[in-house]
Amino acid sequence: MTSSARLATTASEGLFDRARAVTPGGVNSPVRAFNAVGGTPRFIRSAKGAWLTDVDGNEYVDLICSWGPMLVGHAHPEVQAAVAEAVARGTSYGTPTVPEVELAEELVRRTSVEKVRFVSSGTEATMSAIRLARGFTGREIVVKFAGCYHGHVDALLASAGSGLATLAVPGTPGVPASSAGLTIVLPYNDKVAVAAAFAEYGDRIACLITEAAPGNMGVVPPAPGFNAFLAQICKENGALFISDEVMTGFRASKQGQWGLDGAVEGWVPDLTTFGKVMGGGFPAAAFGGRADVMSHLSPEGPVYQAGTLAGNPVATTAGLATLRLATDEVYAHITAAGETIKSAVAAELTRAGVSHTIQATGTMFSVFFNDGSPVTNFPEANAQDLPAYTEFFHAMLDQGVYLPPSAYEAWFLSSAHDDRAIQHVLDALPAAADAAAAASSKGALA
Ligand SMILES: *Cc1c(COP(=O)(O)O)cnc(C)c1O
Repeated sequence: MTSSARLATTASEGLFDRARAVTPGGVNSPVRAFNAVGGTPRFIRSAKGAWLTDVDGNEYVDLICSWGPMLVGHAHPEVQAAVAEAVARGTSYGTPTVPEVELAEELVRRTSVEKVRFVSSGTEATMSAIRLARGFTGREIVVKFAGCYHGHVDALLASAGSGLATLAVPGTPGVPASSAGLTIVLPYNDKVAVAAAFAEYGDRIACLITEAAPGNMGVVPPAPGFNAFLAQICKENGALFISDEVMTGFRASKQGQWGLDGAVEGWVPDLTTFGKVMGGGFPAAAFGGRADVMSHLSPEGPVYQAGTLAGNPVATTAGLATLRLATDEVYAHITAAGETIKSAVAAELTRAGVSHTIQATGTMFSVFFNDGSPVTNFPEANAQDLPAYTEFFHAMLDQGVYLPPSAYEAWFLSSAHDDRAIQHVLDALPAAADAAAAASSKGALA
């Protein structure tokens, strides 16, 4: 951690003390606590476009965008107006409403799903998709990949067992062995391991769930044809293929990751989960897919699933307003902004002698502070020089650029990242690259 933060953080420090007294770790989601990089998390008071303002009055160019959702920037006037109008009509009725139908139609129009059910978080979406897959197939085993995050669902917080195709063990205290024991955790991008698991357990596997393109171990794109292979092997074995697009949906491209592979190659997932961008900054998420599978859900079918605030009219209005703004021009802008930032990061790290790898899928990218090798799976994603990232992160933060407080996260841009915001990022890079170089010369690669 840097010893000489240039920005005043007194107000954030005071709030963090108060928060820690009443909330575990002072935060409501762990990565916000800065545990990986040290220092005081910044309490944000407001945000507009590409910029965050903290409670001490510091301004930052936001390269997290709420971990993905804010595709069109913070406080977009059209989203705000739509939300204000929705709020004025009341905020929740516990009845069907218009915006949830319109948002469902928009999801069906843009993606491969035929029917969709709304929930309130990505975790709920993957949890419900897995229950539906188990109910539909009458089987119990779930296959997932190491390094893919699908929310904090018991069965998905599992760690790989001792061999390639063995049942998993709990990844955290609180997950029953019986729950993790119905999960198989495999190395990402490894067709041989997937084939071995299906050879061993094929008639017991309800579903395979994967991030459409992993973004939660840094961005690790699927090898060409990998997702198509997964869809095919699931089909051959009577298991469902669940593509988790909570992060990539409407973010990697207009049609999510599926727009970059499935739509081109001609295959569709059985079920897909969405969240983040489709909630427009509100708690809204969804799962959807084949009509014959979705019709197994209550009240049409026997698989129970429900939610008091599911399809909430304010949240679905925000999501709909965001998706209506998410035009080809928005993705083109974010792509161009990303190219500018990626090449500047590469140039500055190279100048400073900091080896690294930058990987992307569609508009999503991340920077690995590693030996320069491509990253194809979780062990490779873990081989990073964390002290170098920590110094880089703090040097950027001190200069008013808010990066993810972890080396294992994607960087997110929005259509509000204009020339001024991008230039601000570029201006901060040389000092941050030098800080990373100083840290990395102190120790060998982790
Ligand atoms: C964020 C995320 C989730 C969990 O969504 P929450 O809304 O945080 O519960 C699930 N899957 C993926 C791929 C994610 O990135």
